[in-house]
Amino acid sequence: MELYELTIHELQDKLRTGETSSAEITASVFGRIDAVEKDVHAYITLMRETALAEATRADEAIRKGEIGALTGIPIALKDICCTKGVRTTCGSRILHNFIPPYDATVVEKLRAAGAVLTGKTNMDEFAMGSSTESSFFGATRNPWDLTRIPGGSSGGSSAALAAGECIASLGSDTGGSIRQPAALCGVVGLKPTYGRVSRFGLIAFASSLDQIGPFTKDVEDCAILMNVIAGYDPRESTSVPEEVPDYRQFLGRGIEGWTVGIPKEYFIDGIDPEVEAAVRETIKVVEKAGAKCIEVSLPHTEYCLAVYYIVAPAEACSNLARYDGVKYGFRSEEGRDLMEMYKKSRASGFGAEVKRRIMIGTYALSSGYYDAYYKKASQVRALIKRDFDEAFAKCDVILTPTTPTPAFRIGEKTGDPMQMYLSDIFTISTNLAGIPGISVPCGFTAAGLPIGVQFLAGHFQEGRLIQFASAYEKEAHLEKRRPRCHGI
Ligand code: GLN
Repeated sequence: MELYELTIHELQDKLRTGETSSAEITASVFGRIDAVEKDVHAYITLMRETALAEATRADEAIRKGEIGALTGIPIALKDICCTKGVRTTCGSRILHNFIPPYDATVVEKLRAAGAVLTGKTNMDEFAMGSSTESSFFGATRNPWDLTRIPGGSSGGSSAALAAGECIASLGSDTGGSIRQPAALCGVVGLKPTYGRVSRFGLIAFASSLDQIGPFTKDVEDCAILMNVIAGYDPRESTSVPEEVPDYRQFLGRGIEGWTVGIPKEYFIDGIDPEVEAAVRETIKVVEKAGAKCIEVSLPHTEYCLAVYYIVAPAEACSNLARYDGVKYGFRSEEGRDLMEMYKKSRASGFGAEVKRRIMIGTYALSSGYYDAYYKKASQVRALIKRDFDEAFAKCDVILTPTTPTPAFRIGEKTGDPMQMYLSDIFTISTNLAGIPGISVPCGFTAAGLPIGVQFLAGHFQEGRLIQFASAYEKEAHLEKRRPRCHGI
């Protein structure tokens, strides 16, 4: 096996014994990038030189016995996380030349833990999308089948990981953007509780829904990354001063006697039969591990998509009002006066999907419509949250498919926004309720495309999710297939 194929914890064992060095690991990852990136296109910006310097520093630290939680491990960042001195585009023309003067809190934390930062990964423009096709920088391809999308909006982070172009990565999830691409690329993806990971330095899309989380090759690595990125941040007003447990303590503990809720509203018409079969199989696996599965109901599920597509665009249209071509980012040179400069900069700086969201959001917030749309959506959101509270009174975790279908073809849904929005039908409720959710690989279709299962728990119960997911992973004996990254 090549070094780039290994997990964080496997590499840490090799680093500790001196069997390998961070320089070797980093060279292996960049070698893989050189081999496959032209086909996968997972990155917007590579940080090769600084990464190699960081690897050398990590090796010196290891020699001195100063080993942090991620010393010498190559990690990729979604290009929505601000990086000091390194271009941060959010997948948009309007930020194509933006160089942040500061690091996001998660980036500071990764650096402090000794990580080697490989680069900034591709994403749907402003994280609006489910396929990474709306990026100003072009689409990312799924390493399992290059004619297909990797999921989105964090598709660059999931594809880079599946392809071996990093050892782990970070993404952000507003309605499914970590879990959906994780499922479609055959990796683990966790969206933490709202408030668990600081959003300071995360470019805002919908501030009441956005969360940063890890993409990893297995559940143990997920616990390792969560240990680094979780926690209170006084610079971020919605971050919660709740104690962070050592997430590794939840690994391998078993789930004997746990009750698992299967929401009847999540096994619906339109779900791909191979996805449904694989997810139903996971029910058998967790029962074999000693859990009891019961049916639960989340009766307001049918409203989730409608509520999300009021709340998220409403927040997005106010968050995106700051991009006007004045202080930073793209400026049209064509305007003859200030108003025209604003208009032309925004008209050619934003792509079609972003403009659609700005228009929907502005409409939903406009006077006379606010009560009918935004206020109503906020009220229904409270009912969706209550559904989960009531379900968690009866079960420890909830099990659902992560996505209704495996990865679809590039171009298949770009002409039909509603079809694209439906990709997140099983993930959006989690963000509306603010609870954590994890997607774990659970099998493959006959054509060799990965399938994911989603586990949900109550607020701040990421530890419970890690315990459950690690028990599932152990019992499931899934094949450790790796994508070939060619086949066009
Ligand atoms: N696909 C959803 C959207 O387009 C969710 C995106 C996300 O989680 N960032 O808004």
